[in-house]
Amino acid sequence: METVLIIGGGASGMAAAIRASEDQNRRVTLLERQARVGRKLSATGDGRCNLTNLHADAAHYHGEAPDFAAAILQAYPPEKILDFFASLGLRTVTEYGGRVYPASGHAGSVLDVLRLGLERSGTVLLTGCAAEAVRRQDGGFAVTAGGQSLYADKLILACGGCAGSRLGGVTDGYALAASLGHSRTALYPALTQLRTTPDYPRALKGIRVDARLRLLQGARALAESSGDVLFTETGLSGTAVFEIARWAAGKNDLTAELCLIDETPEYLLEDLRARRARWAALEANRILTGAVQSRLGQMLCKYAGISGSMTAEQITDAQLRALADAIRAFRLPVTGVSGFETAQVTAGGLRTGEFDARTLESRIVPGLYACGELLDVDGDCGGFNLHWAWASGLRAGELR
Ligand SMILES: Cc1cc2nc3c(=O)[nH]c(=O)nc-3n(C[C@H](O)[C@H](O)[C@H](O)COP(=O)(O)OP(=O)(O)OC[C@H]3O[C@@H](n4cnc5c(N)ncnc54)[C@H](O)[C@@H]3O)c2cc1C
Repeated sequence: METVLIIGGGASGMAAAIRASEDQNRRVTLLERQARVGRKLSATGDGRCNLTNLHADAAHYHGEAPDFAAAILQAYPPEKILDFFASLGLRTVTEYGGRVYPASGHAGSVLDVLRLGLERSGTVLLTGCAAEAVRRQDGGFAVTAGGQSLYADKLILACGGCAGSRLGGVTDGYALAASLGHSRTALYPALTQLRTTPDYPRALKGIRVDARLRLLQGARALAESSGDVLFTETGLSGTAVFEIARWAAGKNDLTAELCLIDETPEYLLEDLRARRARWAALEANRILTGAVQSRLGQMLCKYAGISGSMTAEQITDAQLRALADAIRAFRLPVTGVSGFETAQVTAGGLRTGEFDARTLESRIVPGLYACGELLDVDGDCGGFNLHWAWASGLRAGELR
């Protein structure tokens, strides 16, 4: 009987355990430091769990060697991940942009079927049990965890990264791998919020808009996205922000530019003139009533130098032009990105050159495998990171 130990009961570790235990000649143990498996999973996709994306291919992944993920993604395309979940009993729905969610609308359903899958697989679950140290022993691995000493012929590291630290993201996996001779690249938070100077966002806190967003360094555009943008206490969040935040890490002289109504300047100016005529006696800073959320409208007026103490008919054409510009290019100075507490994923990780891209076995230590976010692979926003977790977990669990 071959003994297999998997460290980390998150997305990739659970997938690896289910796959590894399909072979009746293996005894599989899954070790999880938190009180229960899949804690982070319950919080994914705003509680809905965007579990994969129909467009998952290598173009959506990043890392020092971006091609590393290609072989695994080819072996486990979205259809195979959907088959895996269907075999566990999960019903799914596909939404805008190929994003796949559980049909129940609850991340808990994904975790529930994985838990049942683990139970049926006969995997031994050790929760509340953190792996503290690992070393080579008799051709296998001796792992110290929660005061116990465990032995395994094969070891899979599925400890995740340090993003989402409030949900249990830690750096343990990098340290365990380092003790076996592996190295890692620099780590930084990805799919995270942009911090901006507080003046505007603080007053707009809680407002969500559908916008086009550009990240500028000086006058140069570094990245562009469109979609959901949420104003927060400290800056900007939302899927459109997550997509461009990776280009902000470690840089200065940055500005986030929001296009809030994607119309030509001429069209906007005509519309603003009509508003001025229609509501001549209205406070000037309410001229965008009905066009954007009222607090945002007042803020744009302030930004364009239009005060609430005048009436709409007193707004000059130059001020209307400034307002049209503000609507198309509302600029917020960026002071940095949020840290690992709020980031959804860790960019960087175990050096992929030290692992076989087809099997995920270590090139340094035979019998050692790694999967999920722990490796230097991170995906775009939209279900790509969980897709990588399942795909790499299932492949590592094959123990080829
Ligand atoms: C708020 C939030 C929302 C997200 N939403 C989405 C989404 O909708 N779609 C998407 O694709 N991605 C999403 N992600 C990213 C996605 O959740 C992760 O990329 C994915 O969970 C990584 O899987 P993993 O198995 O590598 O790591 P994890 O799921 O983090 O699992 C690692 C596990 O290892 C355990 N562990 C660590 N060290 C030890 C140790 N020493 N001993 C024992 N156990 C240990 C941890 O406790 C953890 O349970 C989100 C992330 C966050 C934080």
